[in-house]
Amino acid sequence: MIRSIRVISCILVIIVAGFPYAMAQSSPKLVVGITIDQMRWDFLNRFKHRWHPRGGFRRLLQSGYSCESTHVHYLPSYTGCGHASIYTGTVPALHGITGNNWWDNSLQEFVYCSEDDSVKTVGSSTNLGQMSPVNLLTTTICDQLKAATNFRNRTIGIALKDRGGIIAAGHSADAAYWYDNEEGKWITSTYYMNELPAWVTRFNTTEKVDSLYKLDWHLLYKEDSYLSVNLPGKGSGPQAFGTPSRRFPVNLKRYAGQNYSILPATPHGNTLTTEFAKAAIDGEQLGADTITDFLAISYSSTDYVGHAFGPNSKELEDTYLRLDIELGQFFDFLDKRIGQGTWLTFVSSDHGVAPVPFLFAQMKIPGGNIDDKKLNDGLNEYLKQLYGVDPFSKGINNAQIILNIDLIKKVRKVSISDVSEAAIGWLEKQQGISRAVRLDDLQRASLPKEIAEQISNGYFPMRTGHIQIIYKSGYIEGSMSGGTTHGTGYTYDTHIPLLWYGWRIPHGRLFRRTTIADIAPTLAALLGILEPSGSTGSVILELINKEN
Ligand code: ZN
Ligand code: ZN
Repeated sequence: MIRSIRVISCILVIIVAGFPYAMAQSSPKLVVGITIDQMRWDFLNRFKHRWHPRGGFRRLLQSGYSCESTHVHYLPSYTGCGHASIYTGTVPALHGITGNNWWDNSLQEFVYCSEDDSVKTVGSSTNLGQMSPVNLLTTTICDQLKAATNFRNRTIGIALKDRGGIIAAGHSADAAYWYDNEEGKWITSTYYMNELPAWVTRFNTTEKVDSLYKLDWHLLYKEDSYLSVNLPGKGSGPQAFGTPSRRFPVNLKRYAGQNYSILPATPHGNTLTTEFAKAAIDGEQLGADTITDFLAISYSSTDYVGHAFGPNSKELEDTYLRLDIELGQFFDFLDKRIGQGTWLTFVSSDHGVAPVPFLFAQMKIPGGNIDDKKLNDGLNEYLKQLYGVDPFSKGINNAQIILNIDLIKKVRKVSISDVSEAAIGWLEKQQGISRAVRLDDLQRASLPKEIAEQISNGYFPMRTGHIQIIYKSGYIEGSMSGGTTHGTGYTYDTHIPLLWYGWRIPHGRLFRRTTIADIAPTLAALLGILEPSGSTGSVILELINKEN
């Protein structure tokens, strides 16, 4: 009898011990967050006829779930705040990343979003590694997953741009790696570790960057098959920054062993990122057990190429066609390593991009360039004439005037309010400017509620300027004639793709408007974990598969 009880209890123990394994299948083995820097939503459709049969975008669109009306809903639409908003599920007003750089009103200096002077570079001899997520004020979805697994999972952030990996992976990440464009290596900081893991050191010694340079940049397909246009009246196009020529093939061989800063502005920068991500999966054994790991990848080269050549260029088209094929291969790799249906991915972007003003002007579409240095000088000149003191504006950053508060306070009988009103009156008369409003008194400005919301979502008093400038549609900051940028609240800068694929993701499309801040809370709901601390986004209910 006792013996049979023992046998039964043994069987019970086996059943109970086996249960957690069955339970563990209720979470994915690996979450891969993919941000494609500067990918505008319409690119999904524009290049649709050219997506490769085994490419990543075809797989995402045919088997995954696409939220077709996802927008950035704050100002400015830049990289630092984009990555922060995707991963924290909230807006700059709460996560504190108000731009790539911002004016810190307490320190009275400019701060870069991921700078951290208290840490050192690990992996190279430059100071490009003095970075950490210390300026991020709320938790990311990666932090929440870390806590939910009792800190037993692995979290890695990877991007050529430091901010693309660091901010996404969050405070508690095991590591973030970024590209040192002086030495051509992947580096990190002492925030995470004191020495690179062996797999990173090994990767850095493969001279991968030189071998990519040696491929030059050939177009994937025949040049006349590209939809894109060259800028009219400029021959083969203007000399773009960071890239030597617009004639294909672009000679990159000459940079091998010489100059590592060119690589990010070519599609090879994305290849380097994918190769490194694969090495991370193997090196860190991501997704190898049942505790959900997180790999946050950001593809930066799409942004560099987009700035240099614009969204209508063949350079950009070729970059996306190549990324599509690489993503397809990467997903095949994940199926093989982790197992089909056991990993989960979302693909989105940190912001879109404006058309090249010079090109659109040829089509009579309004737009232009605004030289913010000249604009600031003009404003100071005007205020000097009024008050006899100079300079009242310290500069324009993130389309905000930073007032020289200390100087204004020293001038008798002049208030901050007086100067603000005078500045606004002058700014609104300038070409390319639609509105200028006081950030500390938004209620008084009569604005459509969507615009007021964009401004207040981006307002964090210690990290923003004093007057917000709203440019007219089509106007961009900077004077580059062939290139372009982003940063505004117009659809070309705010409309981003949002695709989900893999573990428990149904096939479907959603046209209801969603925001960049909905990504993290939706992921939290899928994973059954707490949403990030400052989350203000909403769960995309349509995505939660009712059968599960
Ligand atoms: Zn970006
Ligand atoms: Zn950019």
